[in-house]
Amino acid sequence: MRQGPGNLGENTTGSMDGKRVPDGGMTPSLYLEACRYMPGGVNSPVRSFRAVGGNPVFIRRCQGSRMIDVTGREYVDLVMGWGSLLLGHAHPEVVEAVKLALERGWNTGALTEEEVRMAGLLCESVSGMDMVRLVNSGTEATMSAVRLARAFTGRDKVIKFEECYHGHADGLLTTGHAADFSSRPATLGVPLTIVGETLTLPFNDIEALSRAFEQYGQRIAAVIAEPIPGNAGVILPRAGFLASMRELCDRWGALLIFDEVITGFRFRFGDCGIESDVKPDIVCLGKIIGGGLPVGAFGGRREIMEMVSPLGGVFQAGTFSGNLASVTSGLKTLELIKDSDPYSSLEQNGSVLQAGLEERAAEAGVKVRVSRYGSMLSLSFSDGQGGGGEGRERHFLKYKRFFHEMLGRGVYLPPSPVESWFLSAAHSEEDINRILEASGEAFRKLRGEI
Ligand SMILES: *Cc1c(COP(=O)(O)O)cnc(C)c1O
Repeated sequence: MRQGPGNLGENTTGSMDGKRVPDGGMTPSLYLEACRYMPGGVNSPVRSFRAVGGNPVFIRRCQGSRMIDVTGREYVDLVMGWGSLLLGHAHPEVVEAVKLALERGWNTGALTEEEVRMAGLLCESVSGMDMVRLVNSGTEATMSAVRLARAFTGRDKVIKFEECYHGHADGLLTTGHAADFSSRPATLGVPLTIVGETLTLPFNDIEALSRAFEQYGQRIAAVIAEPIPGNAGVILPRAGFLASMRELCDRWGALLIFDEVITGFRFRFGDCGIESDVKPDIVCLGKIIGGGLPVGAFGGRREIMEMVSPLGGVFQAGTFSGNLASVTSGLKTLELIKDSDPYSSLEQNGSVLQAGLEERAAEAGVKVRVSRYGSMLSLSFSDGQGGGGEGRERHFLKYKRFFHEMLGRGVYLPPSPVESWFLSAAHSEEDINRILEASGEAFRKLRGEI
């Protein structure tokens, strides 16, 4: 459903008026109270505006492509529940389905028909998924997938890529580009012994990947990767990179895990299919398949999945796993996506947005690089010099400024210079125009600065 401005509630005064609000959300006292009770005032760090400065926005109501904050300002949303809302906020048919589900009781602690339908739909749509286990988040999915791969292969080491994010499980929060591929914890509180089992490699480096296998091949349980990384901007896999993952895993007896928590169902109905002949052994899903309610899933080849408890010896469980609210929201969302097939118009909107951003930046004399796959996009001010220190610093400084210029003009971008922007099927041509208009002014403000 597409909603124009002013449709969200009575109090939309001051929204979309083009005036810049210096502090973002204009709610310092609420933010102070939030900070008293919650670390950094938030329940997930990136929401805190730490990376961009200023006070975070408090949202009261969302509908379609729009969000309204507690002061009544309206935003075109490009965060979209961090990519979990392919149909936009509060799709009326999803709302209706979840309401009906809630009336029936939502945590049976037993089986429901809906879980079976959901599992069936996932297995029919995602390549290589014979069986699936529903969990409650992407983090749970990747954590369990790694455990399963270790059990299946009887090995301990896991290869991950620095540019990929797989949630906040201990062994997957690593950095390091050492010659021996050793990892450092990317957070306090993780023992070295745990990251000692993770080899951290640069994405798109086939040579490093084959060297890692030559060095540790017999001990590697799995390679885990986002097939199209979306957590460090949008990164496209080099031709042959995913295929070489598959080939090396096969040669050395390791499993290939694709983390499709973002990419699953974002570009087509099912896995991302960017290199359709490269099939993983285990796929992790999340975000879109819950329609915005908490969910995750991991699944794969039958012989592997049969090792999951209670069938096999790999323990995995969850009080809320497969709860009726999340499953209904996900199922309804997926059914609506299947019926409406929004993917070509998402691609179309994505390409208009990309071209428009590039054009307006060029007109303003600001150098940007837009990276995009379908409805997932990122914009970098680093002058195309790669991820190196100076370019990165320039990008961070400019993005900070750009973010607030956009926010003040009613566009909610990720409050982080490294996160992707997401379009939904609820974004209209008018939304895209609004984003582009705001970006033109924002780029002009940035011209010549920093
Ligand atoms: C968001 C994300 C996760 C973690 O999912 P949560 O539901 O936040 O735990 C894992 N992998 C990828 C690729 C993600 O984008």
